[in-house]
Amino acid sequence: MADAKVIDGKSLAAGLNRQVGEIAFRLRDQIGITPGLAAILVGNDPASQVYVRSKHRACEAAGIAVLETRLPAEASHAAVVAEVEKVNADERVDGVLVQLPLPAQIDARQVIAAIDPAKDVDGFHPLNVGRLWSGLPGLVPCTPQACLRLLRAVHEDLSGAEAVILGRSNIVGKPLAALLLGADCTVTAVHSKSREVTAICRRADILVAATGRPRMVGADWVKPGATVIDVGINPVTLPEGRSGVVGDVDYAAVSLVAGAITPVPGGVGPMTIACLLRNTLLAACRRRGLPDPLLPP
Ligand code: NAP
Repeated sequence: MADAKVIDGKSLAAGLNRQVGEIAFRLRDQIGITPGLAAILVGNDPASQVYVRSKHRACEAAGIAVLETRLPAEASHAAVVAEVEKVNADERVDGVLVQLPLPAQIDARQVIAAIDPAKDVDGFHPLNVGRLWSGLPGLVPCTPQACLRLLRAVHEDLSGAEAVILGRSNIVGKPLAALLLGADCTVTAVHSKSREVTAICRRADILVAATGRPRMVGADWVKPGATVIDVGINPVTLPEGRSGVVGDVDYAAVSLVAGAITPVPGGVGPMTIACLLRNTLLAACRRRGLPDPLLPP
């Protein structure tokens, strides 16, 4: 069997970033609007700092203004909610992002519920979750949206495809299940209590791994020719001794069996950031009664 086609998330994301950038600059030049994202970071989690920095850089390159607020790790729940309310009311802000995870003293669910749903560019507010499951327009979470965009790069039509998602988190597995059902796939979500996991995965035309378990998916989990999307970002020490990241899929082994596969890094990660930019632009347009600037995934 030939090596799988590599789904190049980095270059596909660059294409979407470019489209967002062109529209953002047009909005600024023609009607004086600069889309704005408020990013709230609480504490000193190193991974969160890296993510916020990458999002900040990508936004600025695309002509999206960023208002970054950093709160100390010991910030109270009330202080975080107050910051959310402040940016909700700020006319310069179209998108509000609270970087997760939050320190233990803060109730993340209440913080998410405090975000104005029209500015909820992560798509985690219960109203946007309900809209997604109801097939209504809303703001769709970035990582699942990224997975669908990457799948669309290799599948013209997903209708009837057997899709298996490893993981059922609120930020990846569940919203992706809703998106894939919306794309007419037959969807199975597998989790830590599931039985016969390997056999279920082997049925999949589309296999998405989002467990946070490094290289869990081996070649014998994958139907020959299947498309494999690897959401995992797991920090590891590489054989050469330096630190790096690996996915939830054993890339070297699975790429000999799969038909198409996303690498880690360079797959879902960059496309997730591009989807955040796209959501911010979408929120900026909708808040002003302008038509959606880009097609849904
Ligand atoms: P999470 O909240 O920890 O959820 C993990 C899911 O995997 C849970 O539903 C869990 O089942 C399931 N699971 C764990 N072990 C399993 C096993 N042995 N067999 C079957 N299912 C199993 O993680 P997450 O936030 O969804 O993130 C998943 C991965 O994606 C992480 O590596 C994370 O870093 C990465 N991620 C990447 C991006 C990106 O932009 N690329 C964005 C978000 C997350 P239970 O529900 O039963 O516990």
